[in-house]
Amino acid sequence: MENILVTGGAGFIGSNFVRHMVKSHPECRVINYDALTYAGNLENLKDMFEMENYIFLKGDIRDRESLEKVFEEYGIDTVVNFAAETHVDRSIDEPEVFLTTNIIGTQILLDIAKKSWKVDADKYSREYRPGCRYIQISTDEVYGALGSDGCFTEETPLAPNSPYSASKASADMMVRAYHKTYGLPVNITRCSNNYGPYQFPEKLIPLMINNALEGKELPVYGDGKQVRDWLYVEDHCTAIEQVLVAGEIGEVYNIGGNSEKENIEIVRKILLALNKSEELIKHVKDRPGHDRRYAINSTKLRKLGWKPSYSFEEGMEATISWYLENRDWMKRIVDGDYMNYYSGLYGKI
Ligand code: NAD
Repeated sequence: MENILVTGGAGFIGSNFVRHMVKSHPECRVINYDALTYAGNLENLKDMFEMENYIFLKGDIRDRESLEKVFEEYGIDTVVNFAAETHVDRSIDEPEVFLTTNIIGTQILLDIAKKSWKVDADKYSREYRPGCRYIQISTDEVYGALGSDGCFTEETPLAPNSPYSASKASADMMVRAYHKTYGLPVNITRCSNNYGPYQFPEKLIPLMINNALEGKELPVYGDGKQVRDWLYVEDHCTAIEQVLVAGEIGEVYNIGGNSEKENIEIVRKILLALNKSEELIKHVKDRPGHDRRYAINSTKLRKLGWKPSYSFEEGMEATISWYLENRDWMKRIVDGDYMNYYSGLYGKI
């Protein structure tokens, strides 16, 4: 693990992971490759630009030529693929880009990882490596929905219910196929819902915090009793790191915080913490195909020595404080100004 390619590193979880790896692994070079879609925001990483072991490259995982240059130029030996279209509501309105990025983009990345080269320092002699280490960041949504009890294990059959989760499940199948067919050293991680700093405000927790602070209505799908298993983003990052260093090749690892909460409970907690009235809650028509409950069994990963370090209460406190201290970050996104933040600064490679 010398030259790690992090794709989608300008998004929510990717930017937290990049920061974690740059700081805790000064011996590694972290190359963040991101297309900067509406969800990618370089402001998430502005403290990283002066770090010697950090590089940003603007690029699309569907662009084979660009990726090939990156692998060769930087001698990539490890890939962590976060790049994806991620919002379920958007996948219901416009599924196609979810297929091209999440499935085809993943396949292109796998293909290049499979024949990756380790380039020696002088760049003239090359030592062939049979494919670099590859980690696919997947989601518990590939398993579909649960009833009122039980939880997803790595053996639960895949039964995705939204175009988003179907595209992620397809990508997982392709990752598995590249391991079984070509021997690519892969792992797949399937994590539950994340929350924490730098999350785009179309997702539940930052949306509700922002609306509450602005005194706007808080739209809650249906009765709000959908259950999710919440994990603070930093704990997701340490889990991926653990899989990178100790994961058994070819294995899938579930990641979860044993922290099941109903959406409505979270919304009420946010209102209470911000001293706002529950009258701001507005129940709206439920999302089509909305999964009722997710819960994760992460025993297999815990056996590798990982456990979350934040309780849900600690994570929520840290998250709400971060959004209160970074209202300008939120304002720039909501105003659409952040798209100007990097324009003209970074060309396409
Ligand atoms: P995000 O939407 O915040 O970030 C996605 C990033 O990918 C953005 O920076 C975007 O610019 C980039 N991107 C999109 N298309 C690209 C392309 N074609 N080429 C290169 N870059 C591209 O997403 P997130 O919430 O940080 O999720 C990251 C990953 O983790 C995703 O794969 C997602 O499926 C998975 N995941 C997310 C959660 C969650 O709760 N957010 C839970 C489990 C798994």
